[in-house]
Amino acid sequence: MTKAFDVAVIGAGPGGYVAAIRAAQLGLNTVCIDEFKSEDGKASLGGTCLNVGCIPSKALLESSENYERALHKFGEHGIRVKDVSLDVAAMLARKDKIVQQFTSGIGLLFKKNKVTSMHGHGRLTGGGESYQIEVSNGGTSETVSAKHVVIATGSVPRQIPGLAVDNVRVCDNTGALSLKEVPGRLGVIGAGVIGLEMGSVWKRLGSEVTILEALPVFLGAADEGVSKEAWRIFTKSVGLDIKLGCKIGAVKAGKKSVSVQYEHEGTATVAEFDRLVVAVGRVPNTRGLGLETVGVKADARGFVEVDERNRTVAPNIYAIGDVVRGPMLAHKSSEEGVAVAETIAGQHGHVNLEHIPWVIYTAPEIAWVGRTEQQLKADGVAYRSGQFPFIVSGRARALGETAGFVKMLADERTDRILGVHILGPFASELISEAVVAMEFGATAEDIARIVHAHPSLSEALHEAALGVDKRFLSL
Ligand code: FAD
Ligand code: NAD
Repeated sequence: MTKAFDVAVIGAGPGGYVAAIRAAQLGLNTVCIDEFKSEDGKASLGGTCLNVGCIPSKALLESSENYERALHKFGEHGIRVKDVSLDVAAMLARKDKIVQQFTSGIGLLFKKNKVTSMHGHGRLTGGGESYQIEVSNGGTSETVSAKHVVIATGSVPRQIPGLAVDNVRVCDNTGALSLKEVPGRLGVIGAGVIGLEMGSVWKRLGSEVTILEALPVFLGAADEGVSKEAWRIFTKSVGLDIKLGCKIGAVKAGKKSVSVQYEHEGTATVAEFDRLVVAVGRVPNTRGLGLETVGVKADARGFVEVDERNRTVAPNIYAIGDVVRGPMLAHKSSEEGVAVAETIAGQHGHVNLEHIPWVIYTAPEIAWVGRTEQQLKADGVAYRSGQFPFIVSGRARALGETAGFVKMLADERTDRILGVHILGPFASELISEAVVAMEFGATAEDIARIVHAHPSLSEALHEAALGVDKRFLSL
């Protein structure tokens, strides 16, 4: 007999597993179907984020930063360490352990919340009173039915036509997170978030890193002031060799190296790398999902079309996360998962896409929320700006991490905060105060009047708020 559910969630990434847990918490009989298998061929919950994305990349970023500190920064603290050496296998094992703990944790959360977990590929096969979903796993298949369906199938790396990824010599994010040894020369195609984060990891561990970017501008989505300073730091102090405006030609992978033909500033070049990482964006994943059988539409770029509350055109079918419009970020996926579960349960779920924070985990980190200065100019919005450098922050000095600044942009007339842009230590943590402030419709003066602990990095946000009214206390 077909198992019948109130809700079927397809995909157990940060969008899907959160949607399933919230739906079950709200009393809905919920199944979550996921097909992801880890390298050892075992089912592994958590999607891209936990298996081959956010979590493993942050583990390696931390390990590589510690290695670099031990090599180059401990000395200034008067700590002498001799014979610092690198054990890549141990570093990867630590990362894998963290991933394993988190992915198995999702299974426990499913049990605790009474979510039925099914491993296999989910395909919508028909509708009516409820929808049918065929779940196939190897040679076997089973069909379940559900009144509501949440599509949370995420994204996959965008491919460059004719460039085969084997995750040995030419890697996408999966291979880049598992290189068994430090490549002498690492090539990266794409100076986006993955290119910069993975480039930073392997640069710190000793690779010579060259990043080839198609666009003539660096980090175009970030505030121009931030991307300009980040460019200076990444190319000068960090030592990433980033080439903008590149046209990639033939890529040939050999047994020992990979050659990349590219054109840069009018000159054709062939570069030889030991490993190549391709990180040119991600595309929505709707492969074999059977959207057409239930009338769900995808747009020209393959994203499932949804309205502001993540409803598709098919009744009771929702889509969330990387497979729909908006930033491809784990926290955005999860919040959409919560909102959709609440909508299904008859509540009013909603996500404000205007206030999704962005973080790039380089050193220094980059984080922002809201609009950039160039967007405000383009939109013709009159604004005031306050910018405070970390070099004047006592805490940043104590940390020895003084690069960067906090910039706050506020409406000239109402003083309401329109954007906050941070380049500096723990920007990923500092940005939350700005998100909370903006969600509550705060003004720069509100932040300026709130007591911030001393000495803390958050004082830089306080000072940037004071700076909007040109009344810095420490500058
Ligand atoms: P996914 O996590 O992609 O999950 C989708 C799941 O659905 C997968 O398990 C997939 O196998 C499964 N699936 C697909 N189709 C089917 C089907 N038909 N049947 C059954 N199962 C199916 N974001 C951040 O916010 N912070 C970060 O620091 C960050 N770092 C990242 C680092 C890297 C290297 C990468 C690649 C991404 C990173 N991201 C980060 C982005 C983040 O991983 C994604 O935004 C997030 O995982 C999207 O969640 P999702 O649930 O929409 O989809
Ligand atoms: P991205 O969109 O951040 O960057 C891709 C870069 O590749 C762009 O700069 C683009 O211009 C460039 N590019 C595209 N085609 C090219 C070509 N043919 N030759 C050279 N350059 C080319 O994408 P990504 O780095 O692959 O990451 C994918 C997504 O994953 C991100 O957009 C983000 O949503 C998510 N992610 C987030 C984090 C985080 O939150 N810290 C970390 C990693 C990934």
